[in-house]
Amino acid sequence: MKILKSYVNGKWHRADQGLVPTFNPSTEEAIAQVSSSGIDFGAVLRHAHQAGGPALRSLTFAERGALLKDMSKILRGNREELLDLSRQCSGTTLSDGAFDIDGAGGTLAYYAHLSKSSTSNTGLLEGEGVQLARTEAVWGQHLLFPFQGAAVHINAFNFPVWGFGEKAACALLAGMPVITKPATATALVAERAVELIIEAGVLPEGSLQLICGSTGNLLEHLGPQDVIAFTGSADTAMTLRSVVAVSSANPRFNVEADSLNAAIFGGGEGAVGDQTRDLFLRDVLREITQKAGQKCTAVRRILVPADQMDEVERALVAGLETVLTGNPIDPSVHMGPLATADQLDAAIRGVDSLSQSCRIVYGTGKRSDGLGSPVGKGYFFAPTLLACSDADSAPEVHHREVFGPVATLVPYDGTPAEAARIVSLAGGTLVTSLYSDDLDWSRQLIQSVGPSTGRIYVGSEGMANEAPGSGAALPQLMHGGPGRCGGGAELGGWRGVKLYMQRIALQGHRSVVEALNEST
Ligand code: NAP
Repeated sequence: MKILKSYVNGKWHRADQGLVPTFNPSTEEAIAQVSSSGIDFGAVLRHAHQAGGPALRSLTFAERGALLKDMSKILRGNREELLDLSRQCSGTTLSDGAFDIDGAGGTLAYYAHLSKSSTSNTGLLEGEGVQLARTEAVWGQHLLFPFQGAAVHINAFNFPVWGFGEKAACALLAGMPVITKPATATALVAERAVELIIEAGVLPEGSLQLICGSTGNLLEHLGPQDVIAFTGSADTAMTLRSVVAVSSANPRFNVEADSLNAAIFGGGEGAVGDQTRDLFLRDVLREITQKAGQKCTAVRRILVPADQMDEVERALVAGLETVLTGNPIDPSVHMGPLATADQLDAAIRGVDSLSQSCRIVYGTGKRSDGLGSPVGKGYFFAPTLLACSDADSAPEVHHREVFGPVATLVPYDGTPAEAARIVSLAGGTLVTSLYSDDLDWSRQLIQSVGPSTGRIYVGSEGMANEAPGSGAALPQLMHGGPGRCGGGAELGGWRGVKLYMQRIALQGHRSVVEALNEST
């Protein structure tokens, strides 16, 4: 069976101890073994610091952007192979796999394009200069420079290639070398994506290293010039924060954790037109089933004015009845399995817990067999819709992220204030989507819900035909959210690059400050 390799210190490392098997979630066949034993993690960090960092920082933003363009072309050029590996290790359908793999290629290409908007060498100017005294004798300007350490990227299992690509795009463009660690369960496809890039020889040595398996004592070696970008559960984020070097040396630490996102069907007489209503139903059905609901941005709570609950429930059930769950090797399948046995177990326990205070409207809350897979095999879990009778009598709905094709209908009184109050019960969300053609209603809701969410997606008639769906994290816009989401922020054009840079306030005579700015 294939043993996944790590790429460290300029060579491929294949462990022969501590190997952990990974499985095809549609068939439960073992497909690969993973371990990082034998890696000298201190040396990995030094290699990034001493080889990758200086090489990247000797390039301009535009030159680093050209590297990203090459990476994007490599992923796009090997799309079919990567899609096949994604199906094997993640159980993704063609479109779900493409969401991950094309998403990575697209994000790298976007940042390659963005790099052309900077003529600078290594420093980035931010905002306008400001006069600080009576005359221009004292002037100030914000500037950013890349940290001189390494960017350690720890990714979740659900986006093995996009997670690698979106983080690497920002760090490499800033001028920081990357040490990337995919989640073990789906490392098969991430390993191949990195291997293709390394073997093409497009990146300076030391600027991209890969760890398949545990990060060992890597984090204990981190210093103040390093950056950690972590995506995964809040529990793991807490464990990482408690590593002594992380809390004492204070490397920048970005956390993308979980979220109980809400979709809100607008209130008010005639406030939601037919096209907007259809968009709402389409988006919610996609959010429940895309990647078997294993997306941090998936809709978990569906807020509907109480007097329209029955109608919306019937429409969603009719949509879910058409979903075929099974082995994505069969092209008629719409939704694949959950990624691991543990994820299946957590989804079963999660629905059981939600059903203490909610009614199961559709689904069983149990494992199901999957079309095209042997009976009793595969981590299949059919789409599941629940409903509660009121938001406050079902606290689990606002606290428990069931990471599968599971969402709950929550009635509300149709007012923006009540919708915002219910959204905020989750203590911070990555995305809130609202569907209304009443601008005043949407304005009031945005003002109230804004502080507790990272992104607001306003579905209305004007966007119905081209809407990307609320679950798509786009490179142009910030991705992240407050509170339980981890408080992090990735992507968003140059904002995502600045995660890897130190902001300084430069003060001096205007002519001196401006001359220094020109030469950065
Ligand atoms: P997880 O169990 O927390 O694992 C995340 C990553 O952390 C994996 O690569 C894992 O490696 C690694 N890890 C675990 N313990 C570690 C340790 N002590 N030191 C270093 N690394 C460690 O999360 P998951 O199950 O993969 O992902 C699901 C969660 O991620 C969900 O809650 C979801 O909402 C969240 N998520 C959030 C976003 C976002 O952008 N906000 C995106 C996607 C997913 P191993 O696999 O080797 O254990």
